Formats: sequence, C-alpha cells, structure tokens
Amino acid sequence: MSKQTDDFFKNVVSHAKEYGFVFPSSEIYDGLSAVYDYGQLGAELKNNLKQYWWKAMVQLHENIVGIDSAIFMHPTIWKASGHVDGFNDPMIDNKDSKKRYRADQLIEDKIARYEADGKTDKAAQLQADLDAALNADDLPGLKKIIEEHRIVCPISGTSNWTDVRQFNLMFSTQMGASAEDADTVYLRPETAQGIFVNFLNVQKSGRMKVPFGIAQIGKAFRNEVIARQFIMRMREFEQMELQFFVRPGTELEWYAQWKETRLKWHLTIGGNPEKYRFHDHVKLAHYANAAVDIEYEFPFGFKEVEGIHSRTDFDLTQHQKYSGKKMQYFDPEINQNYVPYVIETSIGLDRLFLTVLCNAFEEQDLSSGDKQDSRSVLHFHPALAPVKAAILPLTKKDGLPEKAREILQRLRIDYNVQYDEKDSIGKRYRRQDAIGTPFCITVDYQSLEDNTVTLRHRDSMEQERVSIAELEKIIAELVGWKNLLGAL
Ligand code: ATP
Repeated sequence: MSKQTDDFFKNVVSHAKEYGFVFPSSEIYDGLSAVYDYGQLGAELKNNLKQYWWKAMVQLHENIVGIDSAIFMHPTIWKASGHVDGFNDPMIDNKDSKKRYRADQLIEDKIARYEADGKTDKAAQLQADLDAALNADDLPGLKKIIEEHRIVCPISGTSNWTDVRQFNLMFSTQMGASAEDADTVYLRPETAQGIFVNFLNVQKSGRMKVPFGIAQIGKAFRNEVIARQFIMRMREFEQMELQFFVRPGTELEWYAQWKETRLKWHLTIGGNPEKYRFHDHVKLAHYANAAVDIEYEFPFGFKEVEGIHSRTDFDLTQHQKYSGKKMQYFDPEINQNYVPYVIETSIGLDRLFLTVLCNAFEEQDLSSGDKQDSRSVLHFHPALAPVKAAILPLTKKDGLPEKAREILQRLRIDYNVQYDEKDSIGKRYRRQDAIGTPFCITVDYQSLEDNTVTLRHRDSMEQERVSIAELEKIIAELVGWKNLLGAL
C-alpha cells in the first residue's frame, strides 16, 4: 500500500469510528480480534444495504423467495457439505514472533509486491506456482515457495517458519443442558446450507417451479487464521446469499447471466466501474464446476466482495445421501425427476459496507484565495444514506425551532431524519456532510413568512428555495428506491 492509500484507508477507519459507523467490539476490554460492532449510523447503512439487496433479488424477481434459517443446524449437515473434513486454511507460524499467517496470503502479498515493483513475469510465475500447490493441497509445496521467495514475517522480519498445517475454520459449541447429552454443534460458516436443507420445504409450500431461487441474509462465523484489514475479514460476519436452482445442463448459461446481473448491481451503488473486476477461480472448490469473484479495488488492492459459483448438484445430492431423504424435483415440462443444479451468488455484507464507505469518503479541499477550508464528506447514494435529511433552524429562537420541528414530525414517518440546532449553520452542514446526509433543510425567518425553506445539496453544496408543502415530494423523488432499482 502506498503512503497515500495507506493514509486514505486509515482515515476511512477513523472516520467510521468517530461518526458512529463501526466500533471495535468490546473496546473497553481492549477489543476482541476481528469482531466489530456497528454503531448508530453503521446499523442504518447496513440495513439500507440489506434492503437494497433484498429488493433487487427477491422483490424484483417473480421466481425468487427469501427465507431466514437458524444459525444452529444438525451437525451432520456440515459433514454432508464437506465442511467438517474440508473447510481448512493452510496456516504457518513464525517461531520468532509467534504470529500465525495463512500461507497462501503470505504468498499473495509477495505477488502484489512483485507487481508493484514492475516484476510482472515473476509475479505471474509465483501465482502459477501458488495455484498449482493449492490445487494439489500440497502443504510442503507452499512452505517451499515461502522459503524460495524468502518471504519473511512482517513482525519479526525472519524466515524462521513452522511447517504449513491445515486449520478448520468452523467454530463449535455444545448444545444441551448436561454434559452427558451435550452434542457438538457448529456456528454456520455460510448461510447456504440453511437454504439447501429447506429446498423442498420452500419448493412445495411456495409451489415453485425450476428455475427458481431462495435468498437469505444472515450471520456466518469463521475462525479465520488471521484477521486483518478492518471489517474485511471478520470472525463473525454477515452474508447475503442466493441459491438459484436450475435444470441440469443449463447451469453455465445461468452462471453467465448471474455474473452480469450481480456486477450491474454493484455498479448501480455508484462506484467507479474501474474499481470492479471479475477474477476467475483457478482452484475450484470441491462442489463447483465454475466460479468467479467480483473484486473491488480497496486501498489495499483488489479483493473479493462477492463469489458466484456454479455448485452443480453437489449439496443437494450430499444431503440426499446423508439424510436418506429424496431431494428431487419433478419437472412437468420434460416429465422428469432430477436433483437441480445450483448457481450461488454470495456477497459479504461487511465487505460491501467497506466498499461503499471507501467509495463515498472524500476529504475535500474547499480553499479559495487566501481562505483555507476543507470538509470530510461521505457521498453515499441518497437511497442508501443513513440519514436522509437534516432539519436545521437557523437560530434557536423566534419560533424557528417550532417551525423546524413541524417539518421533522412530518418527514420522520417515512424517513430517518435528524434535527440539529446546536452551533453555527456552517458547522451543522459540515457535520451532516461527514455522515453523508444528502439534504439539509434550513428554516429561517423567511420560512415564517412564506412557508419556504432552503434545501442544501450535499455534493454540490448548492442551495435552493423550496416550499414546505413540496418537501415530502422532493425528498421522495431524490431518495426513493426507484433511483437504484430502476437502474437495474
Ligand atoms: P476469502 O477467500 O476472502 O476468505 P471466501 O472465498 O472464503 O473468501 P466465500 O466462502 O465465497 O468467501 O464467501 C462469500 C462471501 O462472504 C465473500 O465474498 C466475502 O464477501 C464474505 N466473507 C467470507 N469470509 C468473510 C470474513 N471472514 N469476513 C467478512 N466477510 C467474509
């Protein structure tokens, strides 16, 4: 990371804390590694992102429905899905710093450094070697790469490494009141399995016809070997997943279609298109016959935000095998029974939140002539902004607060709005810019005479005079979901 992007990222993280978006968990006890809490504005932004996803995926598709399955599930589910035996990361410890790393990530960091130094051939060769070793589950091979490329521990600076070992990422706990009848259960590492095991429940109760999809938003838990980069890699996080069931043989067409649909969704949020790219998987998971990531260029490089996988009939077949229950669908159009194939789109809500924050954050220099001025601003899409409008009486007296509160009462029924009468109007504008409020409504003396207010726009900082009677209509027009959903 260059100094400039490093500073930018540090500023994003501290801004997120200062204004109540994201706090380290258990902070007064010095925090809990890779666990974060969303503050008063973070929770609003997160809810808006969930709503946008849900509306785009469920509400706009006749053949997609949403569910909310439990976090705890029968332990055999994780045996069937392959997570008990195969949900591992290759880890390596540095004996001097006692720090633990993911071997593949150490190598990826080296590739990024080669690229940054213009050694593209070397980077490509190392990427190929890494892919080959991962593909073959060759742990000694990974160690050899680390040694050959003289990869050192960022903390101790030494290459005094242990062997590479596999580490299962699932958290387990005990269910049941007494030790004798306690059963080991897992905190789900993905929401997908809750969908698969409900496939027939939903299909039958909803009279769904293939192709159809089941969507879900929920928490997932992974005991990540190393957690870093703020809310990028957490031990408790949230996923928004779709499992789309299709007729066998048609899955790659659907895969291509979902790739495009999902990228478009990301672009509507307002990011620079150049910051997004597809990254095809070389090492396919045991269940997939095609897989791609949508990556976003964070200040620390391109990283996965969403995965799109053609999961074949692997999961349903496995559950059929382990549960002894048929997981088949009768397709009346071709008069056949089959286990459907599945396309999955899986996005991490926290990573999405981070893309939105990075896209939106700007420290703007507003100096003109000798006058130094600047502001921190979050350019959220108005439909996603945590606070839609701030209502600001110019002064605290002469009936202006009362007039402003009348407007507040009307708008708060439909929107999350704020009232603020403290400090100068300029300072209040800056505070709203910093939390990304798209509109400020200022009530002044003229408002008492002609029932008009000024409406200030966050991005342009321009102000216009509008009538109070028109406010609801104007705000609805500007922050409504159709601004996002209409572009899909
Ligand atoms: P990575 O390679 O970065 O570990 P993954 O390929 O294991 O991710 P998936 O299993 O495909 O991730 O999960 C789908 C999505 O869930 C990811 O695209 C990501 O946005 C999100 N996700 C996965 N692990 C985490 C985590 N530890 N913290 C936050 N989000 C996560």
